[in-house]
Amino acid sequence: PLVYLDGEYVPKSKAVVSVFDHGFLYGDGIFEGIRCYSGNVFRLKEHIKRLYESAKSILLEIPLSPQEMEDAVVETLRKNGYANAYIRLVVSRGMGDLGLDPRSCVKPCVIIIAEQLKLFPQEFYEKGLSIVTVATRRNVPDALNPKIKSLNYLNNVLVKLEAQRAGVMEALMLNHEGYVCEGSGDNVFLVKDGKVMTPPTYLGALEGITRNAIIDICNRLGIPCEEKVFTRHDVYVADEVFLTGTAAELIPVIDVDSRVIGEGKPGPMTEMLIKEFRKITVQEGTKIPELVSK
Ligand code: PLP
Repeated sequence: PLVYLDGEYVPKSKAVVSVFDHGFLYGDGIFEGIRCYSGNVFRLKEHIKRLYESAKSILLEIPLSPQEMEDAVVETLRKNGYANAYIRLVVSRGMGDLGLDPRSCVKPCVIIIAEQLKLFPQEFYEKGLSIVTVATRRNVPDALNPKIKSLNYLNNVLVKLEAQRAGVMEALMLNHEGYVCEGSGDNVFLVKDGKVMTPPTYLGALEGITRNAIIDICNRLGIPCEEKVFTRHDVYVADEVFLTGTAAELIPVIDVDSRVIGEGKPGPMTEMLIKEFRKITVQEGTKIPELVSK
């Protein structure tokens, strides 16, 4: 595989960054995860927009225009011949001196990796996931804003570790007040009495692009869908629960903290939304003509 590294396409083994990169030393940088489905890059413009918004918020000037960044993503896929891939875009502050001061960093480092990523084994999309809630709290909006997709994902890593220690693959984070925020790298939805609900992002969640896609689908199909503040109790007594994310797509949840959700199998709304989501992944997005037929 070829990796885009500061304007060049280099083999994976040569795709290395300096130990003096502030992304490595301080988590000073931002990233995006994007998917390409049968040659269609899903909501590429939205991902690029979020990347530039994250960059603006941390005063990081990306040395490419948004259009050039889009083109580089497409070119990375083309060069690798991947019609189906997960794309990881990283922009770090770049190489500098030891010490936090970003002014010592001459130029940001831009990386685009395209690879296959299987977040959860296929069987869990059919039978659903068991998850837990964890002690690790989501960072709150007046600290490091969760809307910034920064390279500081230690909280999220801790969530994964807590989940693993509980014998499951994913977990829900609460915020400092105990309201449900999101998973380690995905947003959460409940279905109750025919209504689809997800926590407002101001509680401390990323404004997920998959989350927005699900809201769009509900609006288009006339399914009641709203942002709602909820507690663990609300999750336990929901009819259906599912997670959304670029890597996870839509995945049903059938057990939360040993409370069986609904009938303990993926519910009808979740299954319908999975189908609708799969449809739009190959309809919407930036088409790469030579990869579409692959
Ligand atoms: N929440 C967090 C913390 C994430 O890192 C991600 C992944 O991008 C998501 C939610 C889901 O967002 P999206 O659907 O844009 O991938």
